[in-house]
Amino acid sequence: MSALPFIPFTRPSFNQETIDAVGEVLRSGWVTSGPKLAEFEATLSDYFGGRPVRCFANGTATMKIALQVAGIGPGDEVITTPISWVATSNVILGVGAKPIFVDIDPRTRNLDLSKIAAAVTPQTKAIMPVYLAGLPVNMDELYAIAKQFNLRVIEDAAQAFGSQWNDKKIGAFGDLVSFSFQANKNLSTVEGGCLVLNNEKEALLAEKLRLQGLTRQGMDGMDVEILGGKDNLTDLNAAIGLHQLKQLPSYQIRRTNLARQYFDAFRAKLKSAGLEHLQLELPVENFTDTNWHMFQVVLPLEQLNVDRAQVMTELKELGIGTGVHYPAITGFSLYKNLGYQASDTPVAQRIGRSILTLPLFPGMADEDIGRVVEALVNILQQHAKK
Ligand SMILES: *Cc1c(COP(=O)(O)O)cnc(C)c1O
Repeated sequence: MSALPFIPFTRPSFNQETIDAVGEVLRSGWVTSGPKLAEFEATLSDYFGGRPVRCFANGTATMKIALQVAGIGPGDEVITTPISWVATSNVILGVGAKPIFVDIDPRTRNLDLSKIAAAVTPQTKAIMPVYLAGLPVNMDELYAIAKQFNLRVIEDAAQAFGSQWNDKKIGAFGDLVSFSFQANKNLSTVEGGCLVLNNEKEALLAEKLRLQGLTRQGMDGMDVEILGGKDNLTDLNAAIGLHQLKQLPSYQIRRTNLARQYFDAFRAKLKSAGLEHLQLELPVENFTDTNWHMFQVVLPLEQLNVDRAQVMTELKELGIGTGVHYPAITGFSLYKNLGYQASDTPVAQRIGRSILTLPLFPGMADEDIGRVVEALVNILQQHAKK
């Protein structure tokens, strides 16, 4: 075991102001959805250029409600990626629709947009892209394809809060855009999510869907016309979110700076170790669009005589936490039993087996980057096939 402090793959940052704001809500006499939620939604709407925004209990509920707002249900097909948190395709199944997995681009690890057209059928109603690690897909191309085939787009932007496309914020344009505020995300309300919608009619429907389908009429009247769930975000979470929004720009600068250091350190260390022939795949070197939610490498497993689990174990012994985001969804029993085959999306299968998330979070120290890179490259060197 390492004598140095353990570096987790991520850790949320909440400042004293945020902690105080939580105390204030607890003392206020109203702790569930109320004035803080309204303030958070209005602030988010400003952030997204005035588009309507509604918040939900988590990112999964947000995506489910997005699908419901888009009218997607039994008999419909939704095109998505196999490399995501399983929530993405679970919500498609949850509304009774069918996920259609299209393979990924090995460079971006996101949907390969050039493969979408071939997957479209008369049943296709929507595309659900995922911006893995915060890197958006080519948004011009995405919306051109959606227009060509008359499809809705439900963006799983869970990891992309603060990301951009051509100087426009992800969420400030497009169709339905879903974010998660789960503990590990760049902006966290502990748990939570928000949906950016097209108009007030959709926003009103989303409000009903998150609270039992309820419509209020006058001072004491109520009616239920549609079936809704219980997916509201509380004022406690909203108070945290309001403070996280203030801190986000400084966090963003720090994440970007750490990512740059990773690239420099990997290049230097691979060279000095004489390992430039190793096909260790680094992320797309993008310093304009991505929010650097994660820094992920793809291990050159063909050139190693160990698997990813062994690499992770050895890193852990050196005090370094890593994560797997994500194994291909098509490999899970539920999906195999539904007839999906991992071999239909071979790039996703390979990346899902070999992708590794390295530590990256605003509170990380510069020295930590050197420690992580040194440790990983040494492990690769030890296990490289001769
Ligand atoms: C976090 C995440 C979700 C789900 O969000 P929750 O808030 O955990 O429900 C969905 N998709 C992706 C890609 C995510 O990273």
